[in-house]
Amino acid sequence: MFQLNKKYFDGARECNFSIHGKTLETPIPFAISNIGGGAGSIDRFVSYIDMILSQRIPILFNFYYLTRGGTFKVDWVKRIASDEDMLDFILKQREIFRKKGWIADGYKEFDFTGDKPIILLDTGSGNIVRDLAVQGLTIEGLISEFDKLIDEYFMFGESHNFDILVSLDYALKQTFRGKEKENPRYIETIEKLRKVNYNLNLLVKSLRKYSDGNFSFMLFAPVHGATVKEISRNCEAILEIEAKEGTKFGGFALALPEEGQRNYDSPEEFFYNLGRSIRSVLDRHHDNRPVHGLGIGAADNIIPLVLAGVDSYDSNTPWRRAMDGSNPSNSDFSGSYSKFLLPIVHEDGTPYPKSDDALKYVRLPDITDSFECDCAPCKRYPMKTIKKLYHSIDKEEFYLAKMVMYVHAILQAKSIGSALVKHSNSIEELESFTEGLPPKYRAFVNRILLQSQLM
Ligand SMILES: [Zn+2]
Repeated sequence: MFQLNKKYFDGARECNFSIHGKTLETPIPFAISNIGGGAGSIDRFVSYIDMILSQRIPILFNFYYLTRGGTFKVDWVKRIASDEDMLDFILKQREIFRKKGWIADGYKEFDFTGDKPIILLDTGSGNIVRDLAVQGLTIEGLISEFDKLIDEYFMFGESHNFDILVSLDYALKQTFRGKEKENPRYIETIEKLRKVNYNLNLLVKSLRKYSDGNFSFMLFAPVHGATVKEISRNCEAILEIEAKEGTKFGGFALALPEEGQRNYDSPEEFFYNLGRSIRSVLDRHHDNRPVHGLGIGAADNIIPLVLAGVDSYDSNTPWRRAMDGSNPSNSDFSGSYSKFLLPIVHEDGTPYPKSDDALKYVRLPDITDSFECDCAPCKRYPMKTIKKLYHSIDKEEFYLAKMVMYVHAILQAKSIGSALVKHSNSIEELESFTEGLPPKYRAFVNRILLQSQLM
């Protein structure tokens, strides 16, 4: 199922997932969009999913959006048959969208024959807790709802052929935004839930059901904490639970702690320490299981996360940056443009010429027409073409430009991870690779190398 192929220094790893006859090599990003809960552009994620499938990028889905709520709940997700494979359903849906004309004229599908990608189901449980708490459910009521939810969640994952499920938790929100602040009942529920370790109890219940149920997916334990230290402690606690129960999770899903990066010198130090918070605990136990960085895999964070030993990662940022712009040929154009991620490495792992904007999302008009990227969608749609499509009066061409920008950012997240392990065979090699990267990474990597030499 899961195999560690190579380990560099005290962190970076190359691994192999193999599940349901599909394989996946890490380090790897997951493509994510809130299928079920978003607006019209989510439908185009489906229309153009061949762009993702052809690149063998795994996909993360969200249980809450697929089955419950969302800002713009779409009805079509309800049409999935009770035992239908999730990707087959999406591909069927894609045909419906294409018949509706939700695709650019003359678009030629990217070839995606071969294995289907690994699909991961995340809970979206923060939203589930909020919805239940806002309805006025007591703590006891909420706990009993979640106990029932374990079955529904596992059955959903199993019947739709998900490969990996992140185990349910109460995803205790650390900061309250907008309307949540105005809801004292919600805040009170969260505060209460935080006092006792309800999350670990829920993990025990899930682990028991999982080992009794003969499920075919891998179950990852979510690891939360207020601080990086608390994440280490919670990881230890999960290992103790497993020893007691005589059964194990398939891997771990690392979430962002409340303290954020404020107690660290730089974001790189923070994300490195965050990755190490789990990996060093596992190393002490000679435990090689995979760690997925849940929602923390923005392009900037990948180098520290992968060097710390995080195997896969996802982030909402590529989707948001690509989708946030409006259409310049519309009369109500707001002036906001989608943003294109300026890459640092080519697909073969060689660095781009240094730039102050490296790994920043830059407004589309601010990228030069001659900018070249060798990822598959950019090769077919060079910058000049992306801009032309973006300015088209045909809204499907406008959406296509956004999808190219989105998949480009995901592929850069993949290239960064693979370049890093490719150049990690020796300290000298890693040093010379980082010479080509923006100075902040070079300085950070040098500190990490120094640490590992001193150890
Ligand atoms: Zn590209």
